[in-house]
Amino acid sequence: MTKPHLLQIGNVTERMRARFEAEFEITRLFDTPEAERAAMLAARGAEFVAVATDGHWGVPPYVMQALPNLKVVSSYGVGYDAIDATGAAARGILVSHTPDVLNDEVADTAILLWLAVYRRLVPADRWVRKGAWEEKGAFPLTRSVKGTTVGIVGLGRIGQTIADRVQAFGAKVAYHSRTPKPVDYPYFDNLEAMAAECDALICITPGGPGTRHIVNATVLSALGPEGVLINVSRGSVVDEPALVAALESGALGGAGLDVFEAEPKVPDALKRMENVVLTPHVGSATVETRQAMGDLTCDNLSQFLKDGTVVTPVPECRGL
Ligand code: NDP
Repeated sequence: MTKPHLLQIGNVTERMRARFEAEFEITRLFDTPEAERAAMLAARGAEFVAVATDGHWGVPPYVMQALPNLKVVSSYGVGYDAIDATGAAARGILVSHTPDVLNDEVADTAILLWLAVYRRLVPADRWVRKGAWEEKGAFPLTRSVKGTTVGIVGLGRIGQTIADRVQAFGAKVAYHSRTPKPVDYPYFDNLEAMAAECDALICITPGGPGTRHIVNATVLSALGPEGVLINVSRGSVVDEPALVAALESGALGGAGLDVFEAEPKVPDALKRMENVVLTPHVGSATVETRQAMGDLTCDNLSQFLKDGTVVTPVPECRGL
């Protein structure tokens, strides 16, 4: 029996590839030179019933339009701002993602950055390596997270997991989202008002137009000269030039950033700052969690082949 055709966008692990190959004929979009991809899809687009992609590449609009028989998109990642899920749902295309299996890892990354900024982990490491401990003596005192107030921007699956950890460190939690949640922490419908009450903000909303630059110059200035911004959501959530300006002028105290507006490009100004910790979008990037995400990405496609449903549809596609 001939296998259904799957268009693969981006890279997959060996384990995922083995499962895809057992069930699908695979065409890797990136095997075709960029300039020839539209022509390849114009010729072969009708073959594909499935797309496998990830949160970074998503499904570019020209690809979505070129696949008239597409039925399912399985994305390796929970954020799906690079996929037009509403447009897909209108065409009856199921979009799935990988929620929950990465909550702990991303929350750990947020805490890692938060502690690293407060305790100045990276400069302290450099202090030892460059011999300053022997030459100059003790490293300057840092700041404690205990007793501080942390504002979670987006109290969803990961945000809640971060909140639990933050409390374990003796810090207080507040949160901002569009709707209040059934929790005991103070809710702020206004982000600037929350920033004014917090020592640190941890951003963990989805990306996309709804959250673009919600952390702007006004919010950063409300957070203040001692304030710390942690962003593990999407680069688009923070107005990056405003962030650089706030850090340069001292209007903001420090930042821990896993995501950037033009990844993998990171402003040189940020790279020069001692009060900033930078990681290359590694929120979920451990062997264990990536394996769980890969398995779920494959499970979604396997289930689709069995009964036309997926395990974890994005909210826009529930009920299709
Ligand atoms: P959820 O959907 O569970 O939570 C998202 C939260 O954001 C909800 O509480 C939602 O509440 C809130 N929210 C949505 N829109 C807005 C808005 N415009 N303003 C304020 N709050 C908003 O998602 P997850 O917790 O599973 O994941 C969150 C995001 O984390 C992903 O979409 C992805 O972008 C990012 N992520 C980053 C990773 C990394 O490697 N750095 C890894 C994994 C995820 P409400 O609807 O009430 O507003």
